[in-house]
Amino acid sequence: MARKIMIAGNWKMNGLLEDGVALAKGVAAEVKKMGKPECEFLVCPPFTLLTSVKKALRGAKVALGAQDCHFTEKGAHTGDISPVMLKDAGCQYVITGHSERRADHGESNELICKKSQAAYDAGLKVIICIGETLAERDAGKTIDVCSAQILGSVPETATSSNTVIAYEPVWAIGTGKTPTAKDVEDVHAAVRKVLAKKLGKGNANKMRILYGGSVKPANAKEFLSLPDVDGALIGGASLKVEDFINIAKNAGCC
Ligand code: PEP
Repeated sequence: MARKIMIAGNWKMNGLLEDGVALAKGVAAEVKKMGKPECEFLVCPPFTLLTSVKKALRGAKVALGAQDCHFTEKGAHTGDISPVMLKDAGCQYVITGHSERRADHGESNELICKKSQAAYDAGLKVIICIGETLAERDAGKTIDVCSAQILGSVPETATSSNTVIAYEPVWAIGTGKTPTAKDVEDVHAAVRKVLAKKLGKGNANKMRILYGGSVKPANAKEFLSLPDVDGALIGGASLKVEDFINIAKNAGCC
């Protein structure tokens, strides 16, 4: 079953109006030049830029996503943003369970599952992030940790149409360090097995599993040509048009 490669940029807490719009316009222009790219493109700017980035992407095959959401529709939750609001702002996707939210905000698998379900209910697709810390890796627990995160964070209602999984080893995020290609393929294959048990083989075989963690133009081909790797979630390198687009090109998007 062919799964469409996804090239997703997570801008994190970066970008003011001028440079955020310039970045979005740059990505849009390059993707337009590709004509009909083989890949699906997504950018996830901070909440403050969603509306302006949406406008900047007009006419380009680049989807818009947010980096987090609350698990309810509206109400007394100061500082939070609901999935319904994200949909209203023009998002098609939201990221849940990024390791920085798990670490900085103590987000549990249970909470991530509730957020993901709320996002589906609002009509959004969800990129659910999983990944082990260095200590967990050194203790040989990578597959156990990732399996538990899949079982706990992915709603029972997840399908290959509403969900993308991103495997991001915590120790590889923003560090320039990466696992070997074999390690990545082993984890992705194991994750697909857990997804098959939880959601059925049909969904698991069609569900995209992205790799994230220091993806750069130079290593994109190595990771994105692995059989169970269906794209990349890109942090630092998504902040430069050239790097983001060269990752896509090296992955064979055009
Ligand atoms: C991320 O934050 O999702 C990420 C993968 O970051 P980086 O590409 O900078 O490692």
